[in-house]
Amino acid sequence: MNSFPYIDIHTHPFHQESDTITVQNIFPGDGFAAFNGRNFYSVGLHPWHIGSKQENNEALQMVEEALEFDHVIFVGEAGLDKINGGDFIEQLRVFEAQAVIAEEYQYPLIIHCVKAINEVVALRNKMNPVMPWILHGYSGSIEQTKQLVDKGFLFSFGKILFRENAKAIESFKYLPLNKIFLETDEVELGVESVYKQAAILKDIPLEKLREAVWNNFNQIEKSLMPGRM
Ligand SMILES: [Zn+2]
Repeated sequence: MNSFPYIDIHTHPFHQESDTITVQNIFPGDGFAAFNGRNFYSVGLHPWHIGSKQENNEALQMVEEALEFDHVIFVGEAGLDKINGGDFIEQLRVFEAQAVIAEEYQYPLIIHCVKAINEVVALRNKMNPVMPWILHGYSGSIEQTKQLVDKGFLFSFGKILFRENAKAIESFKYLPLNKIFLETDEVELGVESVYKQAAILKDIPLEKLREAVWNNFNQIEKSLMPGRM
């Protein structure tokens, strides 16, 4: 039996590994590489790139237009960042707008959240979305994770899994396999090494982890994309 492909649910650089499906994050207006059967995209206005209201509205329009491209499969990364983001009121408006787009067009939302989880949860409570919301680069504590998992969030982990004392390690170990994704984000390491570390932390065979994440990926994709993959 062939192995299940690796899924890199959130990456910025373009990767080409033949055994990996990537969801490469691009920004509104960026171009797409030719589709090779494995390189999918997420498109969103990042909280770091918040501009004037008019610029943001134009970017939101471009996000909507990008969804017409078959291999764009997530809205995002979108979210809230109290450390590095732009004007926070505008961040909230732009994040909500993208969450609405995701729901309206039926795409999962991939979320960048720094020190603003209460606001993300408040929006989720308000919208009660059907589409999956994935917290990427997740680093929360076990207490926070227990609350978020009850609210239906999904979680993606990357380089933090290599930080021995990170509180997210406990969260990762706690989460059921059907709630997790893995990612490389900006880091130039292959997702395979993230999987290997994750399998060690979960104390399960690598192959079992590959199967679980593959199933998770199919789970969130199948509701929305007959014929898209
Ligand atoms: Zn990112």
